[in-house]
This record gives sequence, structure tokens and C-alpha cells, in this order.
Amino acid sequence: MKRLYGLRGEVKHYAWGGRRRSAGAPSPFIADLLGVEAPVGRPFAELWLGAHPQAPSLVSLPDGREKPLDRLIAADAQFWLGPALTGQGIAALPFLLKILDSEKPLSIQAHPDRETAIRLHRQDPEHYPDANHKPEIAIALDSGLRAFCGFRPVAEVLADWHRLPPLGRFFKDDAPTFAKAGPARAFARLLQAGSEAVGKLLSELSEILLANDRPEARDRCFLELLQEYPGDRGCLSPYFLNLLSLEAGESVFLGANRLHAYLQGTIIECMANSDNVVRAGLTGKFVDCENLLAMLDYRTGTPPVSAGEQRGAGLRVYRGDASEFQVELIEGGAQETVLNSDNAVSIMLVLSGCAEFAGDGWRQVGGRGSAWLWPGALPELRMRSRDQSLCLIRARPRMRPPSVGNRPG
Ligand SMILES: [Zn+2]
Repeated sequence: MKRLYGLRGEVKHYAWGGRRRSAGAPSPFIADLLGVEAPVGRPFAELWLGAHPQAPSLVSLPDGREKPLDRLIAADAQFWLGPALTGQGIAALPFLLKILDSEKPLSIQAHPDRETAIRLHRQDPEHYPDANHKPEIAIALDSGLRAFCGFRPVAEVLADWHRLPPLGRFFKDDAPTFAKAGPARAFARLLQAGSEAVGKLLSELSEILLANDRPEARDRCFLELLQEYPGDRGCLSPYFLNLLSLEAGESVFLGANRLHAYLQGTIIECMANSDNVVRAGLTGKFVDCENLLAMLDYRTGTPPVSAGEQRGAGLRVYRGDASEFQVELIEGGAQETVLNSDNAVSIMLVLSGCAEFAGDGWRQVGGRGSAWLWPGALPELRMRSRDQSLCLIRARPRMRPPSVGNRPG
């Protein structure tokens, strides 16, 4: 039946996730959003909404049963994904929507482009489980986001090598050509150096910085990382990578081969359907230096931070150059709004307030934390807010024309 379906995502309790500190302390973001009890100390790291085979969301069917979304799509892609996607030969949900809440840094990583993904998957399927690329977008929620993203401008890096003698000594052979050649060689030196040499650099640097009573933001970041990951060369990332602080509503798009790490914050994350991660540090997992160094995007400079495109009063659209997804933040009013599917599937999540959705012969009410699957076969629906504060996330394939309009009540 063409209507909106309730969707239940899976929570991932990775160790770096937000947690309740003590019995009286506030709930972590994801537990609070879903209205579930968060035992003290249990991390709530990610909420997944999509059809990922390891954690497909469950669709509530009218007879009360729940079925995994990946299986429903496999049985009737035309209905669930919609003709705009199946017409292009797409047979699986092209994106995964997440809420991510990190209290501690995640690993430094990059995701391969399609061509590299095909090669890595062929050579090492254990570490590279699929042949797809994985562009992603991060949109900061209320608490903002601190993250590394891309290589810093050359002049800034050189200034730090000058300011901090242990760095200057370690990279002395790279300094003369650094301005011209860019960060590739120096970064390779860092990743390939023996652990003894790296250990010496880390301890000399921390000694100087701990004695300094006015450390810069990136020095403080280095010291924080070193506490969390003693001995890990990834702790030197603040001296190579841009340290971003996104405010609520700001986003960064992470294209192929961009080195990045989320340090702390709460975000909406949307990505293409892939698990391909090539790690550089701040992790106990497999670090694949050789492939990482060969594939990285070594362009320097601050990455563009976008507050999305405002399209009319209640719609903000976030997207990058990936066709698999765009994310919309929709604010609802008391007046009914008509939303169009453009013949492609959407996943929606109510961030705040309460929404009323309706179509021919059906009506659904969605409170905070409720998630919804909008089958691509359902061309449009009507939505209105039951209170002032409705804010809704909608993830869907990247669309060209604007697709929200107001119809008088
Ligand atoms: Zn990533």
C-alpha cells in the first residue's frame, strides 16, 4: 500500500559514543532522542537508518509485523526504491543515514574513490568488504562538531615546524621542498617511521607543550589525543590536518580520499552504501599505510564548510557531489505542506516536535525520535506540525529540482 511506514533503526554502542556519566547526569543524545533508558557508562555511538546488510532497519507493516528493509527492497525494488532509481538499474538503497554522537576521537581515515575501491576489494576483501566508494556528509547538531579534515595550508605547517623544535628536527629533510612539493612526503615519513623514532618525537613534543602555559588550540588537541592514544602517531594529526569546529547547522562534505576524523560532537551523517575505510591512526584496527599514502588527496587548504542551501522558509538542503544522497532539514508549520518523492525513496527522522503526515486513506503521527520510510512509489504526502518546534531530517538520493511546495490549507 502506498503510504508512509514506521522505521526502527539500530543503535551501535561503540566505545567512543556519548554516555551517561552518573545516575543523575543527562542521557546521551541518541538515547534521549529515542526516549530509551541509558544505563550509566553505556555508550550510544550511532543510530543507523537504512538497509545496510549488517544492521537493516525494520519496517513496520500494517499487520503489526516488522521486516528488514533490505529484504523488502530485494523483493520489490520498484515499490520501495521507486522508479527514478530502478529505472537507472539501482537495486539497493544507495545511502545510509546515521546520527553519530562521539565523546572520544574516532580513527583518522579516508574512503577510496570507486576505482580504488574496486582494486582494494579485489586484493583484500577481508579489509575492504565491497567495491563501492563512500562519500559522506557531516552536519553538526546542537553541540557542534570538532573534526580533522584535509591537509592544512603549507605555510601553517612550516610555521609549526619552526615553532616546535622536535617537529622541526623530525621533518628537517622535508622542510626545504615542502612548500613546493606539498605534504605527501612528510606525511609518508610520519606514517613509515619506526615506532621508536615516533615515540621519541611524541615525548619530546609533549614535554615542551606541558611546560608551556599558553599552548595553542592544536597543541591542546595533540595533548588530549596523546592521553587517549599514547604512542599513536595519529596524535600528530593536528600539525598536518585542518582542525574544524562546526557550529550547529554547518556541514562538511567528505569526498573520496579526503583524510578526516571526527573528534567530538553530535552530527547527522549520510553516506553512500559502503564499508570501505582506510585508516591512518588513532585506532587499534588495521592501518593500511601503503594504500592510504597512494590514494590520499594531498591538496592543502581549509575545506569548505557549508550551512546548506536555504530553499524557502522551512527547507535547507545539504549535498556534495555524490549522486547517492542529499540531506534536507525541514521545519514544519501549522499549515499543511506537500512534499514530493520525485519517484525515489526517502528516509525521515523527527529531530524535534511532532509531525502529522497524511495521504490518500492514511494518516501517521510522528513524535521526536520516530523514523519513517517513504517508499519511492508514493508520489507525495502532506505534512503539518502539531507544535511550533517541528524539525525533520530527510535523506534521499540527490535531486536536481527543488521538491517542496506550499499548498494553501
Ligand atoms: Zn569517514
